[in-house]
Amino acid sequence: MVEIYKKSLFDIPKDIVYLDGNSLGPVLKGIEEESHRVISKEWGKKLIKGWNESRWMAQPVRVGNKIAKILNAEKDSIVLGETLAVKLYQALSAAIDLRKDRSIILTDSGNFPSDLYVAQGLIDNQSRDLKLKVVDPEDIKSSIDDSVAVVMLTQVDYRNGRMHDLDSITNLCHSCGAIMLWDLAHSAGAVPVYLTKSRCEFAVGCTYKYLNGGPGSPGFIYVRPDLIKNCSTRIRGWLGHKYPFDFSREFEQADTIDVMRVGTPPVIQMSILEKALDIWEDVSMEDLREKCIELSEIFISQVEKRCPDLELASPRDPFLRGSQVSFAFKEGYAVIQALIDQGIIGDFRAPNIMRFGITPLYLSENDILTAVKCLEKILKEGLWNSERFLKRKLVT
Ligand SMILES: *Cc1c(COP(=O)(O)O)cnc(C)c1O
Repeated sequence: MVEIYKKSLFDIPKDIVYLDGNSLGPVLKGIEEESHRVISKEWGKKLIKGWNESRWMAQPVRVGNKIAKILNAEKDSIVLGETLAVKLYQALSAAIDLRKDRSIILTDSGNFPSDLYVAQGLIDNQSRDLKLKVVDPEDIKSSIDDSVAVVMLTQVDYRNGRMHDLDSITNLCHSCGAIMLWDLAHSAGAVPVYLTKSRCEFAVGCTYKYLNGGPGSPGFIYVRPDLIKNCSTRIRGWLGHKYPFDFSREFEQADTIDVMRVGTPPVIQMSILEKALDIWEDVSMEDLREKCIELSEIFISQVEKRCPDLELASPRDPFLRGSQVSFAFKEGYAVIQALIDQGIIGDFRAPNIMRFGITPLYLSENDILTAVKCLEKILKEGLWNSERFLKRKLVT
């Protein structure tokens, strides 16, 4: 097994144990220099020539190919741009157009609210009869039938880390003739994904969580290659045109994954992401997953031993869990604030979930034990019970 622990490649403050890479990955060394290089050498010196000479225009697909490697997807099947919400809108609208005779978009109640808003907003814009059906995660399989046009799921639940079996659900979806759309926001860079093998039609995800692209780094979309030529695109920007520089009045869609591009890419942010993705070149997702499970098991057993007031909110079976571990506690918000005050960074999701991202690239067993000991102290001594920790901030 190649060493997974690469903390020396990250720029994480010394006195911090970072258990929030599931929300915003930390900065890698060399990123600052890279952004400086792009700004001064490319933008600064080349100005508009940068689009050709620094290959900015090809960047969204070039970076997409790096993500394709991590997700075991085909070359030129992934493109970057905008935010995940926009990419999801594009994927879902293309998906419903592939099943015009069906009326249900099936999802689950564990999905991220934004995904549900996007789906309902899209439905409200349709003249055809479509309905968003939201069921409990454990009822997904029994709810897939031939009324379903699209199954739209986030593989790993953002609150409790519960993980869907991507392959078996995709197979079931296809056996009922429905289209499969996966949101991999909490999967990309966290758990092994085999997109090509899964045969799912669409996938989307973001790059600022486990892929460490920095706050605001763009979302990605995957379209199964055999569908790219004919898939419909409902957000028609000039860069999704086959010949954007013809500036023609009519939209003629690109016959490559460029079809899912919309507008001018965020070059500086994407350069940061492009550089940050280098770290994955020699990471085996299987090894990373193995290490993640090992650390998660230590975390759970230690918390349960030392902090009896906390209740495990994640599945106990590691194979049903993504890369995060959550515990429920009524005053979880204040506990997290007290932890952060001591340099242990996790986060909180309403109503009572304390989340801890387990990221073996920069977390060691020692970090896990340090975090649990601190948590134990905060609970035993009631350190969370203070005005400054109880008052809610804007971002939790
Ligand atoms: C993080 C996350 C988002 C956030 O979407 P943005 O458009 O990038 O803000 C959406 N969906 C899921 C499932 C997420 O985990």
